[in-house]
This record gives sequence, structure tokens and C-alpha cells, in this order.
Amino acid sequence: METIDRDGVPGEEKTFDVFNPATGEIVDTLTLDSLESIEEKIMALHKGFQTWSKTSAEERSGLLYKWYEKIMDHQHELAKLITLENGKPYSEALGEVAYAAKYLQWYSEEAKRIYGRTIPASSTKKRIVITRKPIGVVAAITPWNFPAAMITRKVGPALAAGCTFIVKPAPETPLTAFEMFRLGYEAGIPKDVMCCVLAEGKVVGELFTASPLIRKITFTGSTAVGKQLLKNSASTVKHTSMELGGHAPLIIDKDANLDLAVQQTLVSKFRNAGQTCICANRLIVHQSIAERFVEKLVQAASTLKVGNGMEDGIAIGPIINKQGYEKIIGQLEDACSRGAVVALGGSHHGDDEAGTYFVWPTILTNVDESMRIMHEETFGPIAPVITFTEIEDAVRLANDTPYGLAAYFFTENMKRGIYLSEHLKYGIIGWNDGGPSTVQAPFGGMKESGMGREGGIEGIEPYLETKYVSINIA
Ligand code: ADP
Repeated sequence: METIDRDGVPGEEKTFDVFNPATGEIVDTLTLDSLESIEEKIMALHKGFQTWSKTSAEERSGLLYKWYEKIMDHQHELAKLITLENGKPYSEALGEVAYAAKYLQWYSEEAKRIYGRTIPASSTKKRIVITRKPIGVVAAITPWNFPAAMITRKVGPALAAGCTFIVKPAPETPLTAFEMFRLGYEAGIPKDVMCCVLAEGKVVGELFTASPLIRKITFTGSTAVGKQLLKNSASTVKHTSMELGGHAPLIIDKDANLDLAVQQTLVSKFRNAGQTCICANRLIVHQSIAERFVEKLVQAASTLKVGNGMEDGIAIGPIINKQGYEKIIGQLEDACSRGAVVALGGSHHGDDEAGTYFVWPTILTNVDESMRIMHEETFGPIAPVITFTEIEDAVRLANDTPYGLAAYFFTENMKRGIYLSEHLKYGIIGWNDGGPSTVQAPFGGMKESGMGREGGIEGIEPYLETKYVSINIA
């Protein structure tokens, strides 16, 4: 399902359709921004920065808080939009709206805590003063899997720091973005402080990275696109934050609480139909408990209903598009052709004419490292189970990937837990926890999963410059 005319040259008033991935129906038809209009908006944000960066922290804080309240007042409308254009179950969409809004709340508070410092100088005639300054105009490019939250965790800290902000949301899910921005303007945030534009990814990526007026690029999406943006950002030496792909291992150790592990594995693996960058991609299970764990997981996952996320009781919505679906099925077929055994599911349904794609929760056993699913990000509801006997082997398997975003493990044994948390090369670790994302903690990856952190006190740092003033009072 192609949601945007990739041959379209912005500037010719190109339109594209936003589809409901559960039904294939057109939800809305939008017009692409022309390159000229995007440049004008960047110029307006550049001018807006002169004023916004000089507002008081109190004022920025108040506006962000009002935006947070507006979003919560409209949480049901926003959640419906998310389910319509992204497909995730309505209850998950409601959860995303609350999570997204909390970034605005948290950074409305952090706006007031951007501290400088003074340092004792070597001479009594000198003073050393360090201040923090907003970086300038920030450009963001965001994905479709969290149409609201991936934007607020960038715009919240950017505005709190005193930066102005432009975002290009994913073509699959622009409606949530526009509605959130409408609410932000209603809350009183000026249009020359933040705006949302629509254009083809590559075109806007090149425009953002080449623009001397933009001082920072913040991106969430695939590692391939992130690498391109990093390369292109070199020409103007921009600051960059990259939140890229993942390939999360989830280790179940021999002394895990199995019921807890099963319940948390469901959360980690099947949320958003497996389409998050921190979804468990590989289940690494101790040989001695593997059979019992798989039995319990199969039983639990078999209750997950697949379908249109607007309907009651649906736990797994559609796959976002044909490309995503084909990748998942490709990995499934590859694993089966190499000897994987389907313990649950394996079924899928793609209707090219309607543009709808569904994959049922699937658990694979008899998995080995030759299979693509053990090395490629799946972004779908397939859980391959591989076994280990020595803890060092579990760590080796877990770290055997260029990614380093999230890793999970389940153990009741303190020593083994500490060993695992210290040896897993990942930015986010869930110990007996399949859902570690929360606004007050730093989210981000090591290795090719990216650079920089979002959320927590770390999340505002990338929007600040350090200025050192040396004062000679001799
Ligand atoms: P995903 O697989 O999550 O869709 P992508 O990296 O393809 O990951 O997309 C994430 C965001 O990046 C989307 O907003 C998309 O439109 C945008 N995008 C895609 N290709 C490029 C590109 N070459 N340059 C800049 N942005 C791009």
C-alpha cells in the first residue's frame, strides 16, 4: 500500500491519501507542502527563534502545560485518529495519547530546571560562568508506529529549551500530528514557534539537512535513513539525535518467574502488532524451562484476537503496509524453510486490492542462528524461541547484532540478573519488565540503534548549547 506519490514533486500541489490499514478505506486526502512553503516556514521559525529563545522559562512551561491539558481533553478524538491511520487497537491508542501528553507535561516542568554553573577560576581576578542556550531551529522526522508520542518527545524538550521546531511526520500517519499541532496553537503556542509539514521523506530530508538555518536534526526511523541523514548533516555540521532500529533479545533464565515472564513477553512482543523498535525480536530461553515456557506462551498468545483495532477485544491490529507485511512473511518463510517449527499461528492474510495485511501471533521453536529472523528487525508479531544452557551463551547470542536499543531478561536470581544487566550492550534494559518506556527515563540505543537519548533529564540536553563566559575583573 503506497500512501504517498513517491514521484510527486512538491511544489505542484500534489495530494496523497491516508489509508485505514484495517479496511483499506481512505481516511483523508492531504496536500503536500511545496518546497518553497517549507523554506518559508523554516525562515519564519528562524525569526520566531529570536523571540521564543528569549521568553522566560515560566512562560514556555505554562504553554507546554496548557498543550498537555488540551491533548488530554481531546484524548478520545486523538486515539480514534491514531487507530484509524495506524491500526493499533483503540485501548493502545488511548495509552499512547496519555504517554505522548506526558512528555509535554514532564518538559513543561524541566523547562524551569535548565541550570548553568560557576567554576572557581585559577586567578582571583577571573570568574568562570557557564550558561545553557537553546540550539536554534530544530527539524524532526518521525515514523508511523507512534504517531503522537514520537513527536511530543521531541517537541516537548525542544520548546522547553527555547528552540523552535518543524516536524515532517510519516506519510502513513499525518492526521494525528496535524490535530496535535492544532491543539498546540489553540493552547497559545505561536505558529512561528512550531509547525508541521508534509513532503516526501527524501526531499524533505535533503532540504532539512542542507538548510543553514536548521541547527539540529532529530530523527526516529530506520537505521538506513538515519545513516543518510547523518551523512547529509555533515555539510552544515548539524547536531543530530538518532533513534533507529532495534533487534531486542528477551532472555528467560532458568529461575525466572514463568507466569510473569509470559505476561511481560506478550506486552513486549505483541504490542502494536510487534511494530515497535523495542519489541522483543528474539526469545532466548534456558533449555531447562523452554518447554514449559513455550507451552504457557502459546496458551496466552492464542487468546490474542486479530482484527480492526476499532472493534472491542482486538489485541493485534493490521500490519501498516505491504512492505512491512512482506518483510515479516519473508522472515517467517525463511525460518520455516530452515527447520523452524510453528508452535502457534503462522497464518497471515494480505489483500493487495484492499491494501490490508494481517499476521496472527506466531511462535516459532527449533530456531537457530542461520535464520534471518535472528539477525533482522521483524516489526511483526512473530516470536522465535532459541535455547541456551550457559548464561555466557545467552549474552553472546543477545549481543550478536549491530543493534543495541532494548534488551529484556527474566530472572529472580540477583547475581545472574546483575551479570546480565552489566553484560548486555543495550541502552535500555528491562529486568522482569517488558514495558520500560516512561517519560522520566532516558530512551535510546547503543551501536547502530542510534545516538542521543529522549525522555528524562537527558532528553533536553540535545536541544541545548553550552556557553562559557570568562570574566576578567582585573
Ligand atoms: P519506517 O520503516 O519506520 O517507515 P523510515 O526510516 O522509512 O522507517 O521512515 C521514518 C520517517 O523517515 C518517515 O517520516 C519517512 O517518511 C522518512 N523518510 C523516509 N525516507 C527518508 C529519507 N531518505 N530522508 C529523510 N526522511 C526519510
